[in-house]
Amino acid sequence: MTSQATRVLVLNSGSSSVKYQLLDMRDGTRLAVGLVERIGESASRLVHTPSGDGAGRRERTGRIADHERALEAVAEELALDGMGIDSPELAAIGHRVVHGGLEFSAPTVIDDAVLAEIERLVPVAPLHNPANITGIRTARALRPDLPQVAVFDTAFHTTMPEHAARYAIDVATADAHRIRRYGFHGTSHAYVSRRAAELLGRAPEELNLIVLHLGNGASASAVAGGRCVDTSMGLTPLEGLVMGTRSGDIDPAVVFHLERVAGMDTDEIDELLNKKSGLTGLCGDNDMREIRRRVDAGDAAATLAFDIYIHRLKKYIGAYYAVLGRVDAVVFTAGVGENAAPVREAAIAGLGELGLVVDAELNAVRSGEPRLVSPENARVAVAVVPTDEEMEIARQTFALVDA
Ligand code: ADP
Repeated sequence: MTSQATRVLVLNSGSSSVKYQLLDMRDGTRLAVGLVERIGESASRLVHTPSGDGAGRRERTGRIADHERALEAVAEELALDGMGIDSPELAAIGHRVVHGGLEFSAPTVIDDAVLAEIERLVPVAPLHNPANITGIRTARALRPDLPQVAVFDTAFHTTMPEHAARYAIDVATADAHRIRRYGFHGTSHAYVSRRAAELLGRAPEELNLIVLHLGNGASASAVAGGRCVDTSMGLTPLEGLVMGTRSGDIDPAVVFHLERVAGMDTDEIDELLNKKSGLTGLCGDNDMREIRRRVDAGDAAATLAFDIYIHRLKKYIGAYYAVLGRVDAVVFTAGVGENAAPVREAAIAGLGELGLVVDAELNAVRSGEPRLVSPENARVAVAVVPTDEEMEIARQTFALVDA
């Protein structure tokens, strides 16, 4: 790699979409941000913005047949601004990979053996890893000479002790099928933990944090000294908090009940719990803005959905407080955590005995910056730290190839 190579292209390949960002790691500048969606359909769309501030947006419509065509289109868009993927400034491509199992606890330069290992994890992540693998294969074909790095959503959670990661089921069955808590959103939990330490002006090693990543998907994690010791998502992202469309925690016997009594098959139950549950299942909306509007208008279903969401959140704050023993900060992030002041207020309400208080005025401030929403003299800080998974993937990728 030449010393002028300071850019990282971050790719997040889904089953029918590719999200990408080009970042310059000298100063963290976002040189391009884009998305290809509805790949394989007649109405595919590519939206490309040559800088992070939304200026100069370009759009392409019309069929983009597969991931290969999608990446070629991305490469063409980047080349239009003189930042093509063949440029010497590009140091590496960083790929988001959802499931790294127990095999990958750190970002990893991809070679054939690594790719084969990621493929062996498909049975535990059938919905996500195949698309990630397609993205990797396509990018490697385009630039076989360029370092490509896999950054795993599960990696940050591999530090969990066995007593937090293991489910209380028959050990032989669990091991045969690799059933355990893996956790997800790890890139976000890692980034937010580090930024929270900066905000607090302390070393990550000194801090115990509860991180609440509340987006459409949502997860909580307990972080002790910069290492994850527990997290709410499990074998899959279905477990834990109430989410936009996922149920989160549920008695597993509900599944048997739906099979035996309601006559539903496995795919229908999967769809029910992953796509038709959570806030959507409870009140028909998954967007917290709309739910708050309905709550303020006195809508009973939305109010109950909000209360269930908050109740679950409180239970996890309490549980992770107990797991950590001492907490320095509770940190909110992602779409809901960063923007929904009523969620932060309600989740922390009544926890004064634990040292947790939210200052109404600070909580009402809207900002894209990390900030405290607890009063100055609070025993435990309550913070809002905007997440940036692409930046974290780029940082981890660059750290590996810039050695
Ligand atoms: P994901 O990456 O999981 O798709 P995000 O982290 O982008 O999700 O979060 C999306 C969610 O954030 C939306 O569904 C919406 O509920 C919530 N959200 C975004 N902006 C606001 C806002 N201003 N107030 C309340 N909720 C918001």
